[in-house]
Amino acid sequence: MKEKLVVIGNGMAGIRTVEELLKVAPEAYDITVFGDEPYGNYNRIMLSPVLAGEKRINEIMLNDEQWYADNGITLHKGRKVVKIDRVKRKVAAEDGTAADYDRLLIATGSRPFILPVPGNDLDGVVTFRDIQDVDRMLEAAQNGKHAVVIGGGLLGLEAANGLMQQGMSVTVVHIMDTLMERQLDRPAAEMLRKNLEERGMNFLMPAETEAVVGKDRVEKVRFKDGTELYADLVVMAVGIRPNIDLAREAGIHCERGIVVNDTLQTFDPRIYAVGECVQHRGITYGLVAPLFEMAKVCANHLAQYGIGRYGGTVTSTKLKVTGIDLFSAGNFLGDDKTEELVFQDASRGVYRKLVVQDNRIEGAVMYGDTIDGAWYFDLMRDGTDISEMREHILFGQAHLGDSGHGEQNRVAAMSDDTEICGCNGVCKGDIVKAITEKKLFTLEDVRAHTKASSSCGSCTSLVEALLAHVVGGDYSTAPHLKPLCGCTDKTHDEVREQIRRQELKNIPAVMQALEWKTPDGCPKCRTALNYYLLYE
Ligand SMILES: Cc1cc2nc3c(=O)[nH]c(=O)nc-3n(C[C@H](O)[C@H](O)[C@H](O)COP(=O)(O)OP(=O)(O)OC[C@H]3O[C@@H](n4cnc5c(N)ncnc54)[C@H](O)[C@@H]3O)c2cc1C
Repeated sequence: MKEKLVVIGNGMAGIRTVEELLKVAPEAYDITVFGDEPYGNYNRIMLSPVLAGEKRINEIMLNDEQWYADNGITLHKGRKVVKIDRVKRKVAAEDGTAADYDRLLIATGSRPFILPVPGNDLDGVVTFRDIQDVDRMLEAAQNGKHAVVIGGGLLGLEAANGLMQQGMSVTVVHIMDTLMERQLDRPAAEMLRKNLEERGMNFLMPAETEAVVGKDRVEKVRFKDGTELYADLVVMAVGIRPNIDLAREAGIHCERGIVVNDTLQTFDPRIYAVGECVQHRGITYGLVAPLFEMAKVCANHLAQYGIGRYGGTVTSTKLKVTGIDLFSAGNFLGDDKTEELVFQDASRGVYRKLVVQDNRIEGAVMYGDTIDGAWYFDLMRDGTDISEMREHILFGQAHLGDSGHGEQNRVAAMSDDTEICGCNGVCKGDIVKAITEKKLFTLEDVRAHTKASSSCGSCTSLVEALLAHVVGGDYSTAPHLKPLCGCTDKTHDEVREQIRRQELKNIPAVMQALEWKTPDGCPKCRTALNYYLLYE
């Protein structure tokens, strides 16, 4: 008989672990998942584009209910687990639904922190964590005009941007005098503020909230200095706390989070934990990159292969506000042992700072042009000695002995474990493998098979460059003898050769010169021609 695995938390970390487990040991367990949200599994980080009206809920679903059925997983959605009985090895939900386990995986995520001020429970005061919160905000945006977002961090700014896109007048209130102080230095934070102000966002900072005021519903927010702001909606985005009450009540050792070792095992060897609810080597995380790594290691141990250790994650940050590019990683402020390499082009709105110690990157902040973020991040993570490239490093990877194939060279130089798509935790190696093994050719193919570039889209140019690099460069594995598509009898190689030889400059010119069979081509050949015209 199969062992029973019960997962508490149908969110990003829990289900990613199940996905990894299904890859390595699909038959190992009978799996039951409890989730207190009433849906399948969705990409939480994409709630920001949903609020901004750039995506719809059905576009951010990662695994719909059919996926659970297809994989023989029992999903108890909309059911909150309220008790873990470690002696009987059983969990029970609020409505009485129960399940026995041989192994238990806790993935309960985090809870938004609510400021302990009077009026914090009034109607119209919301947090930003799940689909229900987004629905509440969208409803408030239809009926009200003024929103106050408390918190000038990543989440607060994404909420503020979304509400502005929904037509509200938004004021961001922040306790510090610079925005995103945990990710940005002062120059980058000031550029960000200026940029957001130009778009119509208002700021009140530094300001400390004293009370939310209203009769039945929120009407105003009052601050310690006596200032008041009218508000039809108040969003509290002032931080998160690991969701550990359930584990703690079951006697599982917790500090700030559920304490796990390098195999993601808690102090009870039958119980594992992943995601934002855990504390590993003293650290709790609030981003997705760590949970992708945790999921791999945890699945491996649940599969009883017993290899793989989680050693912690170096994280980087982006802001998902369309048109604003910022990137931050590592020790971006520096200290008395580090030095700074800085590039600033105020009129183009570009700022780059690398914090360096002994010729190794310790941290980076970029604003305006972040295309080299992944490269700097790799150099930092790998501890690469940059003395040879120091003179040009601030101009980006494309300037290091390259002649026109910048993006392709950049992806070619990346190691296989470089993360390309942060939203879905997809590395270069995964994409290359999918392109070569499954003979993928278009961006859509890559999206469908790997999920890379299918969420916020900020990695699309990297994925395209990777596609061009792999498909255009290695025909031992690409389908080099097949015609490019049904619109021509010519192979990829022949088309590329003709583009080069005849110096063709655009798609109609190629189609005419190579006697295309269709007037406008098809998505497959148009995408291919686009790459070749760019890169040949
Ligand atoms: C709006 C928003 C934008 C974000 N943007 C980014 C970003 O750009 N980049 C980034 O890296 N990270 C981002 N994050 C953070 C990222 O979403 C989290 O790191 C990630 O979702 C954590 O995954 P998790 O599984 O630990 O928690 P969750 O995804 O929250 O999953 C936990 C699940 O467990 C359920 N649960 C809790 N207790 C119980 C119980 N007792 N019984 C049953 N179910 C339970 C919860 O309802 C939830 O569904 C963002 C978060 C938000 C809210």
